[in-house]
Amino acid sequence: MPVAKLTADGQIVIPDEIRNLLGLLPGDSILIEPSGSVAVISRIEPNSTAPPDSELQQSINRKNLETPIQYIKGVGPKLAGILAKKGIATVEDALYLLPIRYEDRRELRKVAGLRPGCTEVFHARVISAGPASTKGGRRFYEAVVGDDTGTIVLKWFNFNPRYMKGVWQPGKKGIFTGEVSQFGLQREIHHPDVDWIAEGRELAAIMAADPVNFGRTVPVYPLTEGLNQKTMRKVLKEVVDNFSCDLYSCLPPELMTRYGLLPVDKAVREAHFPDNAADLRALNDWSTPAHRTLSFDEFFYLELGLALKKHGTAIDEGIPFKVTHKYTRQLLKMLPYSLTDAQRRVLTEIKNDMSAAHPMHRLVQGDVGSGKTIVALLAALLAVENDYQVAIMAPTEILAEQHYLNIHRYCDELGIHACLVTSGLKGKAKIGILEDISSGKFQIVVGTHAVIQEKVEFARLGLGIIDEQHRFGVLQRGSLKKKGQNPDILVMTATPIPRTLAMTVFGDLSLSVIDELPPGRTPVTTRICNESQRQRVYGIVRDEVRKGRQAYIIYPLVEESGKSELKAASQMAEHLAHEVFSDLRIGLLHGRMKPEEKEAVMRSFKACETDILVSTTVIEVGIDVPNATVMVIEHAERFGLSQLHQLRGRVGRGSNQSRCVLLAGWKLTADAEKRLHVMEGTADGFAIAEADLEIRGPGDFLGTRQAGLPEFRVANIFRDGAILEQARKEAFSIIGRDPALSSPENISMRRELLRRWGGRLELAGIA
Ligand code: ADP
Ligand code: MG
Repeated sequence: MPVAKLTADGQIVIPDEIRNLLGLLPGDSILIEPSGSVAVISRIEPNSTAPPDSELQQSINRKNLETPIQYIKGVGPKLAGILAKKGIATVEDALYLLPIRYEDRRELRKVAGLRPGCTEVFHARVISAGPASTKGGRRFYEAVVGDDTGTIVLKWFNFNPRYMKGVWQPGKKGIFTGEVSQFGLQREIHHPDVDWIAEGRELAAIMAADPVNFGRTVPVYPLTEGLNQKTMRKVLKEVVDNFSCDLYSCLPPELMTRYGLLPVDKAVREAHFPDNAADLRALNDWSTPAHRTLSFDEFFYLELGLALKKHGTAIDEGIPFKVTHKYTRQLLKMLPYSLTDAQRRVLTEIKNDMSAAHPMHRLVQGDVGSGKTIVALLAALLAVENDYQVAIMAPTEILAEQHYLNIHRYCDELGIHACLVTSGLKGKAKIGILEDISSGKFQIVVGTHAVIQEKVEFARLGLGIIDEQHRFGVLQRGSLKKKGQNPDILVMTATPIPRTLAMTVFGDLSLSVIDELPPGRTPVTTRICNESQRQRVYGIVRDEVRKGRQAYIIYPLVEESGKSELKAASQMAEHLAHEVFSDLRIGLLHGRMKPEEKEAVMRSFKACETDILVSTTVIEVGIDVPNATVMVIEHAERFGLSQLHQLRGRVGRGSNQSRCVLLAGWKLTADAEKRLHVMEGTADGFAIAEADLEIRGPGDFLGTRQAGLPEFRVANIFRDGAILEQARKEAFSIIGRDPALSSPENISMRRELLRRWGGRLELAGIA
C-alpha cells in the first residue's frame, strides 16, 4: 500500500501513484476528516486560481473555436454574411452544422445502372435537348444524356429557354446528380445538378483534382439562398481540417467504451467527411458511431444539468406536511363519487412527496376529464390542514375563474377561505384581498399570473399548484416558488406529453400520470361537416334536445377581447334563439361576462334550464354537464388540436352516446384538414398529442421558446429517443453518486456543464 509520509514541518507527501490516480495538481486543497482513530480524505477541491494545464489548454481551444467564420480561407465578407443568416458566425457553429444527408460519390455510376428512387451521380454526354410540352400543354425542357451503356431523360419544369439553349449543347460532357424516378419504362431526373467538363479535359483528372466532391461519400448540407453544396463543402473541409482538433470531449471514458462512442473531435470529422468504408445507410439514418456520439454528448449534458437541478431541490429543505385527514376526509365524503385507482395512486405519490422533508416538484399529467381538479384540491387541503397557504395558478383569467368557481363551493362547505386574484382586480377590493392574503386569512388563492406579481405576499405559502392546461411556462414555476420558503410545487397538464419531451422539458420534475377516466364514460362520435350540411347539423341538435339532452355550440374567439368576433357570437345566439330554435331555451356564454353572470349561465345550463349553450371557448374547461350530449364546433379549422380535444372533452361525460360535429369552412389548409381528421379518427389524448407534435413541431407544440425547450444543435428527440434515454440514465446515475461533481474524475465534466448551461443552474446551487 502506498504510504504518505508526514515531514518534520507538518507537510504530507503524497506518493506519485496516488496523485496520479486522483488527478491531483499542485495547489489543490485536500479536505481531511477525522473518522474514529483514522482520518479520511473527504473531498478534493481543485485549485481555482492557477488553472491546471488541461484547463489552460481547453481555454486556448475555446478561443480557437470562437474564431469568426470570416477568417476562414475562402470566406469573404459576402459569404460570411450569407453564413450568418444560417446562424453560422464562428468556427464552432460551422463544426456543428452537420450534413442533412450523404451522397455516394465513391465511384460514378454507369447510366444503365442508375437506380430509381436513389440520388445518383454519373458521367454522361448530351445527346439531344430542347423544349417540349405535355399532353396537357404544360411546357418543359427536356434533355437526353447517355454513355456507352444507355441513356436517361432529364427534365425541367421551370426554365429560361434562352439560357437552356445556350448551355445544353449536344456533345457536351458533364457530371450529373439527381434523384432518379421511373415513369413506365422511362427513367427520368427532374432538375438535376450538373458540373460541366471543359473541352479536352479528362474525367479522371477532374475527379482527382477535386477530392472534396468526388471519389468519396460526400456530405449534403442544408443551404440558403446564395449558397451551394460545393461552396459549403469547401468551407466545411477547411474548418474541419483545421479546427476539429480544438473540440474536446468530456464524456466519461467508461461511458464511451460502453456505448461505443468516439472522441468528439473524431466524431465531428467523420460526420462531415466520412471514411469511404462508412455505411451509407447508417450515415443517412444518423446511426453511425460518429452521429450517436454527437447526439449522446448533447443529451448527456442537458440531462446532467436537469439531474443537478432535480437533485438541488432534493437536498433543499422543504416542509414536511403531516397527513391529518381533517379536511380531505370530509371532502371525499362530500363527493358524489369515489376516486379512480389512478387518482388514488397519484394522490399517494403527491402525499409522499409533500410529507417528505424536501420540496416536491411534481408534474401531474392526465387527459381531459381524468379528474385532475379534485386531486389538486385534495393536495391543497393537505397543505391547509397544516396551516399553510396554497396558490393555484392558471394561464388565463377564464381558467382561473373556472377553478375558483369549482373550488370555492367545496371550500365554503369546509369552512376554508378561498379568493380569486386576477389582473382585473382593482382599487379597494384589491387592497382588501392582498391584505387578507398577507395576513394568512385566505388559505387558498386562485389566480392568473397576477398571483406571482410583486405586490402579492403570502403569510405562509406551502404549496403552489400550476394548472398549465396545454400551455407550459417553466419560468413561472420559479417565480411561484419564490413566494414562499421552498414551497411544494405541483404542475398539472392536460396535454399528454410524449415521453421524450417529458424527459427534456420537464426532466427535473417527477411525473405522475392519471391514466384512467372515471367510469361510465362513452366514447364520443365525431364527424366533420361543412356549410352545406348546416341544416342537418341543426337537426342533430334538435333530436338530442327532444330526447331531453343538451347541446353546446362553440364559436372560435381567439381573442376574447375582439369586439367584432364577440358580436358574431352574440348575433349567432340571437339568430339561433329567434330563427332556428325559437322553441328552445338558448344561453350565451363568453369571456367578457362578469364571473357572477357566467356562473349564473352555467348554473342554469347545469340545472337543465337551458337547452343549448352558445359559447366561446370559455367552456374549454370548468363546465361539466353530463346531460350535454352534442357539441357543434363552428369554424373548427381555426382551433388547434389540443384545444379541439379539450372542447370535445366537455361532452361524453355521462353514460349516453355523445356526438361532436366539426363544422368546417370551405377552404382548409393542409394542416387544418389533418387536424380535423385526427379528431375524427381518435379520442385518445396521447395519440392526439403525438399528432399535434408532428404537425406543429416541438417548439410550437410547447408554446415557443419560453417553454424552455432546449434547442439542440445536432440531436433530435424524435430520431434519437433511445440515445436520449441512455444519456439520461447515465447522467442521473452520475449525479446520484457525486451530486456536486466534485470528485477528481468529474471535475472536467463539471466545468463543461457550467460552460454549457451558463447561468441556468442556480437552482442546483453548484454554479
Ligand atoms: P380534468 O382532469 O380535465 O381537469 P376534471 O377535474 O374537470 O377533469 O374532472 C372531470 C369531471 O369528472 C368532473 O365532473 C369531476 O367531478 C368528475 N370526476 C372526477 N373524478 C371522478 C371520479 N373518480 N369518478 C367520477 N367522476 C369524477
Ligand atoms: Mg381541469
